Amino acid sequence: MKLAAVIVAGGSGKRFGAAKPKQFLILNKKPVFEWSIKAFKKLKECTDIILVVPQDRIDEMLKYKKQYGIEVVAGGKERFDSVKNGLKAVGKDIDLVAVHDAARPLITPEIIKNVMKAAYENGAAIAAVNSKDSVKFSKSGTKITKSLDRKNIWYAQTPQIFKKEIIEKAYAGRISASTTDDAQLVEKKGVKSTLVFASYENFKITEQTDFLLAQAILKKRGA
Ligand code: C5P
Repeated sequence: MKLAAVIVAGGSGKRFGAAKPKQFLILNKKPVFEWSIKAFKKLKECTDIILVVPQDRIDEMLKYKKQYGIEVVAGGKERFDSVKNGLKAVGKDIDLVAVHDAARPLITPEIIKNVMKAAYENGAAIAAVNSKDSVKFSKSGTKITKSLDRKNIWYAQTPQIFKKEIIEKAYAGRISASTTDDAQLVEKKGVKSTLVFASYENFKITEQTDFLLAQAILKKRGA
């Protein structure tokens, strides 16, 4: 079984507010995106890695292309545009495709393996965690419309792994601007992704505090 990883690092990281996009900042001596490459490289099934970066960073990625034997392609305006570009570089002989946010540097080979196994068995699977907090739904944004049962609430992470034909079909048509992950598109084609409990440590670096937490966790891991 052969897995290709599409690692999306094509965002501008506006919410983070640093001079360069968060996925290119140095986190414990390596750029944020490199941690994900290293995690996927540990899997013998992962034969292809496609790193998606903003067009103006393609040249500076040459070093990583050589070092890790990866493909580097240009991203697009939205995350789904970047994934779409990455999918074009996936080889014909690939069985499963993993889409992973470069902004989740704390991903581990164990989590990838667990999601990969579920995707192999069911066609589609995603890393996720369930809610630790009580969850409220609000239509107005100020008053609670409804309290939801947190047992049924899951936070989607990445990797999200799919049989190649499933993800290719999901990305083939027009994509709505409100699409934020791959499972959402696959769901529109009638495929129910399996939830695989991952880790609260596999969070997405979005704000400055996430970066500080990632530094501390990597230090604790001895990295
Ligand atoms: O913006 P957000 O943090 O949700 O992005 C998730 C991941 O998708 C990040 O790793 C980001 O670099 C990537 N992305 C992308 N192309 C875009 C927007 C986001 O590759 N146009």
